[in-house]
Amino acid sequence: MKKLAVFFIGIFLLQNCGTSEKTTISNNSHKPKNVILFISDGCGFNHVDAASYYQFGKTGQQIYEKFPIKLGMSTHYSGGVAYNPDSAWADFSWVKKKPTDSAASGTAIATGEKSYKGALSVDTLKNSLETIVDRFEKEGKSTGVISTVPFSNATPAVFVAHNENRQNYRDIAGEMVMKSKTDVIMGGGHPFYNPDGTLVSELAERYVGHKEIWDMNNGGKPISSEDGKVLPESEYRYVGGKEVWDKLSNGTAGNDIDGDGEIDYWTMIQDRESFQKYMTGETPKRLIGVFKSGQASQVERDTTYEDWTPFSAPFIETIPTLKEMTLSAINVLDENKNGFFLMAEGGAVDWAAHDHVLNRTIEEQIDFNLAIEAACNWVEENSSWDETLIIVTADHETGYLLGPNSNSNSDKWKTLKGNGKGKMPSVEWYSGGHTNMLVPFYAKGKGSELFLNSIKGKDPVYGDFIDNTDIGKIVKSF
Ligand SMILES: [Zn+2]
Repeated sequence: MKKLAVFFIGIFLLQNCGTSEKTTISNNSHKPKNVILFISDGCGFNHVDAASYYQFGKTGQQIYEKFPIKLGMSTHYSGGVAYNPDSAWADFSWVKKKPTDSAASGTAIATGEKSYKGALSVDTLKNSLETIVDRFEKEGKSTGVISTVPFSNATPAVFVAHNENRQNYRDIAGEMVMKSKTDVIMGGGHPFYNPDGTLVSELAERYVGHKEIWDMNNGGKPISSEDGKVLPESEYRYVGGKEVWDKLSNGTAGNDIDGDGEIDYWTMIQDRESFQKYMTGETPKRLIGVFKSGQASQVERDTTYEDWTPFSAPFIETIPTLKEMTLSAINVLDENKNGFFLMAEGGAVDWAAHDHVLNRTIEEQIDFNLAIEAACNWVEENSSWDETLIIVTADHETGYLLGPNSNSNSDKWKTLKGNGKGKMPSVEWYSGGHTNMLVPFYAKGKGSELFLNSIKGKDPVYGDFIDNTDIGKIVKSF
């Protein structure tokens, strides 16, 4: 029955690809000019609730929870098992079996095709797959990817690069910067900074003898990270290697992206003030922002505060928020009258959830939430829901986050327990890794209704669900 319904909708869509004026309008009525895709890496329904209890004292208050399209989404990889509600809610450990990683799920989202774990927009035979970014660039739109973790990490990279192994950071970053046609890249992975935002040389003074950051060719002196000359090549892996970094630094990195025979150079920014500056006014043609952390934006700052409440550890003031990155990225991309695609990732919800650090999980999800609020405001002030589509989702769930005592014999899968606004909710983690649990999917704006044509099944807890490949399939059809 379901298959039949999908078949008829397919016929309906085909018929609307006709050439008469009426059908063209009908077809266009589903095509947004701009698409903004938010991905919170590792975020399940309960991660949203954890942040909501802290932010509002209750659930259901996030701006995207009021979007008209609210679904679940399955995330399995090519060698995994498709989500099955009956199994998932009968056997407590079923969702822990063969979960996806961010590369395989990102590939599904970015291309519409399932692939193996570790695959970066290549198929199971390691052939390149066309991504949303590839398609949009072909059609004369602008594109960008931004993240709170290194930009060459799986989720941002999967939209722009193609590689058989997500770990090949140097090559992946090199492809993104020197070969791709994308217009905006932002993220961490700065070669001169530690994951806590301190300069590499400062850390070298604290950890004398650390091989990674100690220059053995320089008489055992601390590394001078100001000029970067003595940093080992491996420290440049997230930005494409030293050669690419040097070109970015002196403004000679780039390639011809519009076929006019001239190189389109990147403008690189690093300071938070520069990210903030580009939130309004004039922008360069191509903008790459590498904020001053060797890894993620805030999640690995002073870890002595890990067990405290969210926001108790001072933030690294030199690093932009995801909201600031989102607004500056949009300000670059919206110059194109044909429209744009932006993927914005809250990349470190996953990292905090792997470590079961609830306060940092909540902080990262709130950073993500605020970026979406800002994007919605941008739509209402500078665009409209008739021309822009916003999607909010996740690539997989991390940590099997549930309410306390969720694996007792009598009563399983409890909801989180809120303890009031500004207070940490009561939770329990049941995995140190990813799960196959459905993740949330929210959409608002032109074209959002198309996702209702892709329902794969109905979950007794989370309702109708689609598959992660549906995002790539539908967005690439715009
Ligand atoms: Zn993970």
